[in-house]
Amino acid sequence: MSGTLVDKLHACAAAGFDGVEVFEPDLIAAPESPDEIRAVAERLGLTLDLFQPLRDVEGVDAEEFARVLRRADAKFALAARMGIGTVLCCSNVATATIDDDDTSAAQLRALGDAAARHGVRIAFEALAWGRYIDDYRRAWRVVELAAHPAVGVCLDSFHILSRGHDPAAIRDIPGERIFFLQLADAPRLELDVLSWSRHHRLFPGEGSFDLVDFMGHVLHAGYTGPWSLEVFNDTFRQTDAARTAQHAHRALQWLEDAVARAFPDLPGLSMLPDSAAPSGVDFVEIKAEDTSAIEVQLAQLGFTSRGRHRTKPVTLWTSGRARIVLNEQHARGAVPHLAAIGFEVDDAAAVSRRLAQLGAPRAWRRTYASEERLDAAVAPGGTEVFWTQASDAGDPAWTAEFEHGEQLRPPVVRGVDHVSMTQPWQEIDETVLFYTAAFGLRAESATEVPSPDGLVQSRVLAGPPSAMGDRVRLPLNVAPPALAGHGDNGALPQHIAFTCDNVRALVRGARERGLDTLRMPPNYYDDLEARFDLDPAFLAELRDLSIAYDRDGDGEYLQAYTATVGQVFWEFVERRGAYDGFGAGNAGIRLTAQRGSRQAGAGR
Ligand code: MG
Ligand code: MG
Repeated sequence: MSGTLVDKLHACAAAGFDGVEVFEPDLIAAPESPDEIRAVAERLGLTLDLFQPLRDVEGVDAEEFARVLRRADAKFALAARMGIGTVLCCSNVATATIDDDDTSAAQLRALGDAAARHGVRIAFEALAWGRYIDDYRRAWRVVELAAHPAVGVCLDSFHILSRGHDPAAIRDIPGERIFFLQLADAPRLELDVLSWSRHHRLFPGEGSFDLVDFMGHVLHAGYTGPWSLEVFNDTFRQTDAARTAQHAHRALQWLEDAVARAFPDLPGLSMLPDSAAPSGVDFVEIKAEDTSAIEVQLAQLGFTSRGRHRTKPVTLWTSGRARIVLNEQHARGAVPHLAAIGFEVDDAAAVSRRLAQLGAPRAWRRTYASEERLDAAVAPGGTEVFWTQASDAGDPAWTAEFEHGEQLRPPVVRGVDHVSMTQPWQEIDETVLFYTAAFGLRAESATEVPSPDGLVQSRVLAGPPSAMGDRVRLPLNVAPPALAGHGDNGALPQHIAFTCDNVRALVRGARERGLDTLRMPPNYYDDLEARFDLDPAFLAELRDLSIAYDRDGDGEYLQAYTATVGQVFWEFVERRGAYDGFGAGNAGIRLTAQRGSRQAGAGR
C-alpha cells in the first residue's frame, strides 16, 4: 500500500482487518519507534502477526552462519519487543553455497533455538526463485528435519502456484506446523517469476490462480492461523491506501465465501448472502446537462420515447427490452456519459445484503414516496449500479413513472448485448473484483487493442446465459494514459451495444431517418474480402452500410456504430450462430475511425 507504516495501519484497521504483517523496510523507514508502532496497532485493535523478511539464513557455511545468527538475534529481539510472535525466514537466494537439506535443517534448528530464547518462532518460506529451496515441499522437508517447536513453514500461494507446483501435498503437512499463510493471486504471464511476483500480484479473485482449491488444501491440513494478503503490485503502491485496504478486505470476503461454498465440510467459514448473477440489463442511464443530441440519435434509430419522469428531468427511451434513461438532473456542465447501469437479478434483497456485507458504497438518490425504490451501489470509477427483481414479461414497474410517451414503435433492437465501460488504469482490478464479488460475474477474457492513441487494455466480465438467452456482458476498457487527461472529447468513449436481429435493416432505417453511422475505411472491406469468402453482394452491402464483420468458427458477428456524443456512442450487433466475442479485431479500426471523426469535429 502507499503511505507510511502508520498510514497503512490506519487503512487496514478502518477496512476491518484483524491484523497485519510488518514488512521490515516499512519499519526501518518509519519515524516512529518500534514501541510506538506497537502502541498504534494496539490502539487500532490490530494484531501484528508477522515480521518479515529475514533473508538468506540457511544453506550457508559456518562462517556465514555466525553472521546470520547475530543478525537474526537482533531481529528476533525486535519482533519480541513489538509483540510479534512469528518471523518469516525465506529460502536463500543470494548467499547459499550448500545444497543440502541436513545443513539447512541444522541451521533452521539453531535459528529456532535463538528465536525461542526471545519467545518467537520462525516460519520458513520457499521462494519461487530460491537458489536451492524453491518448492514448498522441500521447505517442509527441511522443517521436518529441523524438528524444532519454534520452526514451521510459511505457505505463500504465489510461490507455489506460479511454479505450477501441485498444492495437494499441503494436506500432508500437519496444520500446526503451518505457522503462516500468505495469499496472492496473479494473472498468467510469461515472465521471470521474480518480476511477476514483485509487480503483478493481485488480490484473490482477480487473477488466474485457483485460490479456492489452494485454501481447501490449507484448511484441510488443519491450518487455523490468519489469512494474510501479500500482494506486490505497482498500482497499489501508488493509490490511496484506505481504498486499497477496503478492496483487499473485499477480496478476502469473496475468497472465504467461495471456499465455504466449495468445501461445505469445513467449519467456521462465513458465506455472503446467496445471489445468482444478473440475468440481464434492466436499463442504462446516460447523464448530461443537455441530452437532446442523444434523443435525436435514439429517435433516428427508431427507439420509442416513453416520456418524461413525473417529478424529475429524466426521460425514458425503449426498444424491445432495451431501456435507456436520459438524466439531466444534477448534471450541470456534464457531457453525455454513462452514469448508471441496472441489472435484473433473481433476488434483489439478497443482492442488497451481499453488497452491504462487502461494504460497497451505496449510491445516494433522492426518492419520492410514490416511486419505486431502487437499490444502488457505486462501482469503482463512479458508475452507479442498480439491481431490480427480474420480471417475466413486460416493462418493469419503475417505467410507469414516465408520462406522456409516444405510441410504441416496432422494436429495432432486442435488448442490451453489452455495456462497455472505460476504467481508469488504477481501478481496473478493483472494478473486476467489485462485479465478481458483488454480482457473481466472471472475468472471461483479456485483450489488448492497439489504437492510434495507445494500447487499450480490455477485460470482459460476463454472467451466465439466462433462460431468455440474454447474457450480461461488461467489457472494461482501460484508456491509454495519452487519452486519460484529455477531457470530454479526448477520453476513451464508453458504449452501449444492442442485440439486433438485422443490423443491415437497422442501419438502413436509421439512415433514412437522417442518422449516419461511423464510417469504416475502404481498406477494411478490401481486407474482409481477402480474409473471408463472403458473398460479393453481402460484402458490398457491408461496405455500403459501414458494417464491420467477424467470424469465429461457425459463428458470425455484424456490428455498426454511431458517432460519439459527449463520451458515449451506440453499437448494434448481430450475433449469428455461436459467436460469443466482440469483434476484437475490428476495435482498432473503429478507434482509428473515431479519432478521425473526433478531429474532423474539432476542426468544424
Ligand atoms: Mg511470501
Ligand atoms: Mg462493443
